Amino acid sequence: MSLESKGSSSAEREAVRRKIAAKFKIAAPPGIARAPKALQRQYLPSAEELKTTKAELSDPIGDDPHQKVAGLIHRYPNRVLLMPIYKCAAYCRFCFRRNKVGKAADLTRGQLLEAISYIKNHKEIKEVILSGGDPLLLSAEKLAVILRRLARIPHVRTLRIHSRLPITAPRALSKMKLRVLAASEIPLYAALHCNHADELQAPALAAVAALRRSVSGVLAQTVLLKGVNDDADVLEQLCRRLVENGILPYYLHHPDLAAGTGHFRVSIARGRELAAELEKRLGGFFRPRYVLDIPGGFGKTVIAAANINRYKDGWRLRDWRGDYHFYRDDLRP
Ligand SMILES: *Cc1c(COP(=O)(O)O)cnc(C)c1O
Ligand code: SF4
Repeated sequence: MSLESKGSSSAEREAVRRKIAAKFKIAAPPGIARAPKALQRQYLPSAEELKTTKAELSDPIGDDPHQKVAGLIHRYPNRVLLMPIYKCAAYCRFCFRRNKVGKAADLTRGQLLEAISYIKNHKEIKEVILSGGDPLLLSAEKLAVILRRLARIPHVRTLRIHSRLPITAPRALSKMKLRVLAASEIPLYAALHCNHADELQAPALAAVAALRRSVSGVLAQTVLLKGVNDDADVLEQLCRRLVENGILPYYLHHPDLAAGTGHFRVSIARGRELAAELEKRLGGFFRPRYVLDIPGGFGKTVIAAANINRYKDGWRLRDWRGDYHFYRDDLRP
């Protein structure tokens, strides 16, 4: 039940809101009351959030076992996540890091230096991904210092920044910040968190266009969410709108086991149906990879329907229509 729904008194709604606020940060983007339904569901707290299950985890994707120093997650050998800030411009009700995001303190200068020295001391790290929270909420000055220090580590070859700011607070992406991004001394890619075509209204599209001029490329990450985008038409429209605006769909994330987010969860079977449908309808770079972050910290894995199986002395392939074909390797002896 949405807090906006009629039938509950404003006193009841306020009581629920207070209970939720005691557990998780609440902040919706401005104008949410007039925003499309797909946005309201993502940001307006609901009594459903107070229901938790045994399977839900305080650390759903297992960051903690891989946190080497404060704010630095080193899960894969060649890339790390650096989280200098745990604030966002608005708080998604399904946030997979909701136990920290909106709660934990930003890294101190000392902690940031420690994280950067960890990266310096690990030559296997080729990519640093700024995440959080929303790293584009950092001041232009702080962002500049971080990007410059990272780019000057010889083994770090590319940078990435994960953000929802162009959607949640497009005007906060100031000219100063854009100039800082554009000044990156090594290729810097942006990954935009975007879940529905309705999120890409004029102000967001203007921010995305400006972002595109400032970085080497913009990708999109989408969370599969019940009641928001668990529909083939909605996902297709989102993917098309992204590509039409110069953004490449990168990941479709299966919803994580974050506390109080059961009302957003869909089954893997349903997610695979949707991914298979996108495969029918869209060309290769129009469609995201459907992934699950394996609980426990084992990383992301593609969980889309497999189109290839062993068959006799070869392989059975499924085409975009769902028809099967046989293929046998033909190699030099
Ligand atoms: C998701 C994630 C990455 C990035 O993974 P890609 O597949 O390169 O996008 C890196 N480190 C951590 C800890 C992650 O959770
Ligand atoms: S933008 Fe990302 S980190 Fe921020 S609240 Fe939403 S899901 Fe969480």
